Amino acid sequence: MSELNELYQDTILEHNKNPRNFREIEGADKEADGNNPLCGDALRVYVKMDGDTVADVAFKGSGCAISKASASMMTQAVRGKSREEADLLFDEFHKMVTGGLDVESEENQLGRLKIFAGVLEFPARVKCASLSWHTLNAALHDEVEISTE
Ligand code: ZN
Repeated sequence: MSELNELYQDTILEHNKNPRNFREIEGADKEADGNNPLCGDALRVYVKMDGDTVADVAFKGSGCAISKASASMMTQAVRGKSREEADLLFDEFHKMVTGGLDVESEENQLGRLKIFAGVLEFPARVKCASLSWHTLNAALHDEVEISTE
């Protein structure tokens, strides 16, 4: 197993067991529901804005370890970012898991999120990994519901 794969496994397991920001936000400015019917992942993302900044972001729901770990790390990555920065991260993450961005050779802001580059090898898992990002994007752009189908 490669080093990145090992890091991927460990990180997914750890975040699945102990997801960060796994809660509702009362009085959230924005929220959206995301569904991945292929796997059964269903989550709701809550966002509290301060002007143009993501002041707080959290999620609730149920799903496989990858969807939960990805949502957990998504909340950590976008808190404190501007909407524009969150959009950029979404774009890069989406490109990474669909093969449009080589995180090792091309410049990006993904940081620790790079471990999800591993899902490229498992096409059925791409939607699990990107669900929370699509849902965040929907919330930030005032759509209420997304489905990956
Ligand atoms: Zn899943």
